Amino acid sequence: MANSREIIEITEKYSAHNYHPLPVVISRAEGAYVWDCEGKKYLDFLSAYSAVNQGHRHPKIIQALVEQAGRVTLTSRAFHNDQLGPFLKELCALAGFPKALPMNTGAEAVETALKLARKWGYKVKGVPDGQAEIICCGENFHGRTISIVSFSTDEQYRDGFGPFTPGFKVVPYGDGAALEKAFTKNTVAFLVEPIQGEAGVVVPPEGYLKKARALCDKHRALFIADEIQTGLGRTGKMFCFEHEGIRPDVLVLGKAISGGVLPVSAVLASEEQMGVFKPGDHGSTFGGCPIGCAVARAALRVLVEEKLAARAAELGGRFKERLAGLCGKKIESVRGRGLLLAMVLKKSAGPARPYCEQLMVRGMLCKETHQHIIRLAPPLVIGEADLDLAFEHIQATLG
Ligand SMILES: *Cc1c(COP(=O)(O)O)cnc(C)c1O
Repeated sequence: MANSREIIEITEKYSAHNYHPLPVVISRAEGAYVWDCEGKKYLDFLSAYSAVNQGHRHPKIIQALVEQAGRVTLTSRAFHNDQLGPFLKELCALAGFPKALPMNTGAEAVETALKLARKWGYKVKGVPDGQAEIICCGENFHGRTISIVSFSTDEQYRDGFGPFTPGFKVVPYGDGAALEKAFTKNTVAFLVEPIQGEAGVVVPPEGYLKKARALCDKHRALFIADEIQTGLGRTGKMFCFEHEGIRPDVLVLGKAISGGVLPVSAVLASEEQMGVFKPGDHGSTFGGCPIGCAVARAALRVLVEEKLAARAAELGGRFKERLAGLCGKKIESVRGRGLLLAMVLKKSAGPARPYCEQLMVRGMLCKETHQHIIRLAPPLVIGEADLDLAFEHIQATLG
């Protein structure tokens, strides 16, 4: 078998350079651990951006994968399959929505939610044709399609990719007053991450989501929560919106919905809102495929059976407190909820990347976001002893 250096060379040679990965080659994984080609073991503190909340290769999810692979993998939506209905029923019950629409990637699910909101705006709210407005937040991350990067405030995400999709209005995240001013009679939706993951685990001020909920009600606009990263146990509740006791109109899920096994995403909404989609309006060849649905059913069951949300709350709370004790030297602050945490480094500590490389050498994988922030998001099944070990690595590197 090739060694890590050779694999990196061949990957760099043939792949587009749209990522800047740490120089580690993962060839095996289980639970909270991954191993490289040479057999070195690491703690995974990224969890594929929260897609493997259930841990790598959870046996029950893999079992569902293998069993379904032995029956049927793909039918397209031209025909029914025996996994889609049960999957949507279980997903709707878990999230408390009457309707769901399956897609594959997170970006596709966000696009679906945007299409839903626009069509609902025209057909139900009565917005004049072509006038629908959707409010989004600064520093958002909702994916990489042209329409989604149209309302990104990260210059690099947009540079060279115009012309952009109109109809989006961006307001500063966490600023209720700015949000209030942004609504017009043509506003059809407010799209928001309850915690901004890619922005560096930014938690909005308390009461912000409640105020946004009230504003959406007042202006008859849809509250769309992008919980692709925050949802499914990561922040210590099954859904992050529960922390503020609100409910969105439209919920967007992805990543951990399949436990990191296949690309599965979904949009959940009311009968009235989902009703705007008629046959032919929207679709996806792989969306709702039996193998994706079977895997997702198992992945959702694992979250509930193993009480992973409560586990994230408990372990994350303690871990955050311990990390806070390291603040002062190189770490400016620690923020986040559950096991979605980030360390913000002091300017004087320099960029975050070299620390991630040092942690990698020590056997812990995490990734910088922006220049000076390190996200900490292990699989929710991580053991307490491994959290202690991770703490020691961080203390030795950044304490
Ligand atoms: C990862 C992510 C997306 C995009 O998901 P992809 O599967 O990469 O398309 C969208 N929104 C949020 C909040 C995310 O974290």
